[in-house]
Amino acid sequence: MSIIGVLGGICSGKTLFCSLMKEMYGYQIVYFDQEIDLNKTAMQIYNNWNTPTIITAITTKEQLRVLKKRNYFHLIYLDAPSFTRYRRYCEKNETIKFEDFVRLDDKQKYDLDFLELAKNCKVYLKNNTNAIEEFRNYLKQQMSKIIRPFRPDWDVYFMKIAYTVKQRSNCMKKSVGAVLINNNKRILSTSYNGTPKVMKNCNEGGCDVCKESKTLDLILYKCMCIHAEEGCILELGITQTRNTTLYTTLFPCVWCCKALLQAEVSRIVYCEQGNWDLSLKIIQNLIKYDQIDIEKYIY
Ligand SMILES: [Zn+2]
Ligand SMILES: [Zn+2]
Repeated sequence: MSIIGVLGGICSGKTLFCSLMKEMYGYQIVYFDQEIDLNKTAMQIYNNWNTPTIITAITTKEQLRVLKKRNYFHLIYLDAPSFTRYRRYCEKNETIKFEDFVRLDDKQKYDLDFLELAKNCKVYLKNNTNAIEEFRNYLKQQMSKIIRPFRPDWDVYFMKIAYTVKQRSNCMKKSVGAVLINNNKRILSTSYNGTPKVMKNCNEGGCDVCKESKTLDLILYKCMCIHAEEGCILELGITQTRNTTLYTTLFPCVWCCKALLQAEVSRIVYCEQGNWDLSLKIIQNLIKYDQIDIEKYIY
């Protein structure tokens, strides 16, 4: 199920976008012009929930409000440079002065709900080429953003939780979040980095190392902050950490790699690479011996 709305300035290429989506992925196109019966059209779209639909010419907040009643609807912003859009406009209609085109464009943007609607766009696409093949290839590359899955897969789900956990970090040098899950996809523990409970928080001056501006991997052993990955396994014992998966927003440092290995965590999913050359080498050696699976999370 997929309902996509497309929003864009004059001659940004909405029609071409719709026809390529129809051709490549079988989307039906619905025009939301002022003439339609909004509720009736929306009901038809909802009832045909299995037909991928793309809606263009959305111009009012009311139209958007009705479409957003379905949680699988999302709005895409299609953009192109003003001068490219101006050239397209002249080719399609009549040649006008560039300043007259800007006036038309501003009218659409500022007189209607356009800017308000644009705030709802979750995906930004650029159509700055006049070569259809080039645009088609660009759309193919962007497809995971354009056609969003109904719900996130497990890796996305847990990594997003790790990023939420990270927000509670009190370390002023770097924020990291981690989530440890068992084989039944149940969360065993969550943790973020920061000083131990009994100490002042790092951001309140609790760690002398984090106050300095030196590169963290050179002085890591002096740092008072407990790392997110460490925190996750400290909450539990080996009986619970064995054969688990750790989601961490940052590639683990050597310190944490050792602890994770000892805790017999069997899979690590990380997002940001960080600056840990040494731990990367250690982990690569471990992978060689099939001791731990490590995967980069691509978002
Ligand atoms: Zn710190
Ligand atoms: Zn660490």
